[in-house]
Amino acid sequence: MGQDKQFDVVIIGAGPGGYVCGIRCGQLGLKTLVVDRQYLGGVCLNVGCIPSKALIHASKVYAKARDGAHMGVLARDIAVDVPTMIGWKDGIVERLTTGVGGLLKANKTQVKIASARLLGPGRVQLTEADGASEEVGARHVVIATGSRPIEIPPLPIDGARIVDSTGALSPTELPAHLAVIGGGVIGLELAEVYRRLGSRVTVIEALDQLLGGLDKDLVSAVQRKQKKAGIDHRLGTRVTGHEVLEGGGLRLTYEDSKGAGSLEVDRVLVAVGRRPNTEDLGLETVGLAPDARGRLAVDIQGRTAAEGVWAIGDVVAGPMLAHKASKEAEVCAEAIAGKPSAMDVKAIPNVVYTDPEIATVGPSLAELKASGRKLKIGKFPYGALGRAMTADATDGFARVVGDAETGELLAVHVVGAEASELIAASGLALELSADLEDIALTVHAHPTMAESLMEAAKAALGEAIHAVNR
Ligand code: FAD
Ligand code: NAD
Repeated sequence: MGQDKQFDVVIIGAGPGGYVCGIRCGQLGLKTLVVDRQYLGGVCLNVGCIPSKALIHASKVYAKARDGAHMGVLARDIAVDVPTMIGWKDGIVERLTTGVGGLLKANKTQVKIASARLLGPGRVQLTEADGASEEVGARHVVIATGSRPIEIPPLPIDGARIVDSTGALSPTELPAHLAVIGGGVIGLELAEVYRRLGSRVTVIEALDQLLGGLDKDLVSAVQRKQKKAGIDHRLGTRVTGHEVLEGGGLRLTYEDSKGAGSLEVDRVLVAVGRRPNTEDLGLETVGLAPDARGRLAVDIQGRTAAEGVWAIGDVVAGPMLAHKASKEAEVCAEAIAGKPSAMDVKAIPNVVYTDPEIATVGPSLAELKASGRKLKIGKFPYGALGRAMTADATDGFARVVGDAETGELLAVHVVGAEASELIAASGLALELSADLEDIALTVHAHPTMAESLMEAAKAALGEAIHAVNR
């Protein structure tokens, strides 16, 4: 094999795991190739984080103007132009993915659009869309192939009436009635987009709680506001089948605690979770097998059990989050370069971009209570926050949880406007092993949403200024 086909590192997948790993490997002087079968930026930039946040923002701009009469904002003849909104969103994706290509090039990392498959230790086959195929050699291979939506038998994705998140992010027109199957993160974020833009929305969730895994009081704040906005939540409900109606609609059949029922809708979004892409990768040629959930086992540097094979992002355990994939990517690149890097972070923030937003770092309150540790808990309502009133966004609260004996900060939970931005300081506080007192003593700018964290920390110490201490 020629020297031009021999690499230090071949990275399979160019999502926030793979492309970040490619940039870092390039910075560290490793001869690196990033291969993606579809696009640079992966799910996150093309059909995930970025396009969903663009539509969340655009739909909020519309709804704020439409619903602003109580603030003296009278927007007459206001309308949604779906193709322009989708075009604006696509423009952002284009700008970011082009930027990723530029960064890889600037760091001397090569890129190829092809499907990759392991042929054995240090050997990777690349097959382009036209069938052209070549073999490259690699001292190290990084599996960063991400995940895809799970499908359910009663609702096979057809890309038109029954869509997954990718289809829901690029509608050509809005459905009169959308059914969202799965009241998880994707389901609730996109349910709100369609509702704000004017669709009737029904969320069908198999479990008895939306956003399972998060504390119930955080979820309740979102659930209440969604209900007020007209979103119908059907909990403990499972779709059993569907029938296409004359005129193009769909009749869904379902089962809940009361028995069987049916519901007529115009479109269905299936968002019932994601599964790692670990099939058809030739993993068996290096002696690797994914677990029952499709994940690869790795150590704290991303090393698999096979010599020279690494894995990062959605294909390994942990939350399926872009920033988690990117952190693992940097650690993996540094470990390959022989640096003493490790995935030893204290907390990975988790944000749900609903209205109000939910953002947490550290364990949930339920987990902390179950640990048996004595806790000091402080809570401050957005309703008592000047900034929240001026932003017309008084739903929610901030909560800090500390160790009752040492005062050490253990977790921060926020449900409220701009929680996604507030949580960064809390992550830093956790990494720096801050105490509740450190947050309480820090001067926070007024008026800001972040004052809720200072007040919550003061409340935990019995010293809240803008709330009555109990
Ligand atoms: P991916 O981004 O999935 O990238 C994997 C890449 O590998 C893909 O480009 C794929 O084409 C390529 N690939 C797969 N197999 C092969 C092969 N054999 N050969 C070559 N290439 C291959 N996370 C957040 O943190 N914040 C959010 O706000 C957020 N919003 C989301 C919204 C939606 C609608 C969705 C679907 C996801 C969202 N996520 C969000 C999750 C986030 O997108 C993923 O956690 C993240 O993209 C995982 O990164 P990754 O690099 O592991 O994989
Ligand atoms: P999810 O796991 O968050 O939610 C899936 C929901 O579907 C669950 O509540 C589950 O109980 C329900 N469900 C499963 N089978 C069902 C069925 N047959 N009928 C009805 N309900 C059913 O998964 P998701 O919303 O698809 O998101 C996938 C992943 O993408 C998330 O876990 C998250 O890591 C990532 N993501 C993150 C963000 C963010 O960070 N803001 C946004 C979107 C996606």
